[in-house]
Amino acid sequence: MLLYPDFCCKNIKEVTVERLEKNNIKGIILDVDNTLIDLKHNLLEGAEEWCKELKEHNIKFCILSNSNNKEKIIKVAKALDVPYIYFGTKPLKRGFKRAQKKLNIEFENLAIIGDQIFTDVIGGNRCNMYTILVEPIKDRKIFINKIKRKIEHKILEKYNKNKKEG
Ligand SMILES: [Mg+2]
Repeated sequence: MLLYPDFCCKNIKEVTVERLEKNNIKGIILDVDNTLIDLKHNLLEGAEEWCKELKEHNIKFCILSNSNNKEKIIKVAKALDVPYIYFGTKPLKRGFKRAQKKLNIEFENLAIIGDQIFTDVIGGNRCNMYTILVEPIKDRKIFINKIKRKIEHKILEKYNKNKKEG
């Protein structure tokens, strides 16, 4: 199912080496807005340490953001010392393929971590990646997002129900 993530958690710090190794993940494609930074562009506390620890276990990273704010993305990429792609056109496969080529890791060994089903999860699933949905650090209070969140909430409710039943 394209809409369902393989794993849901509060934030990136709950993505452990153990989970990645169990699922044969060698690289992570990272969303930026609401996954790594809040609306004021503050990096999630502990993000650098989390990234460093996974790198020590040979996990590779690439940022893939739909944002066209180059400076913002570069700032995050520098803080984590990882390559980046901005204006990533998720959920289209194009951006994911660019990230995959940068990392030189097969899709089946890649995970995507993001806060949105409609860009991060759908795009990742279309590329047969391991998809991880995190709770948005802080939500935009604009109308369209409210609607999207409501739909996402419904999908997740159904997902959790299915998981319990199956
Ligand atoms: Mg996001």
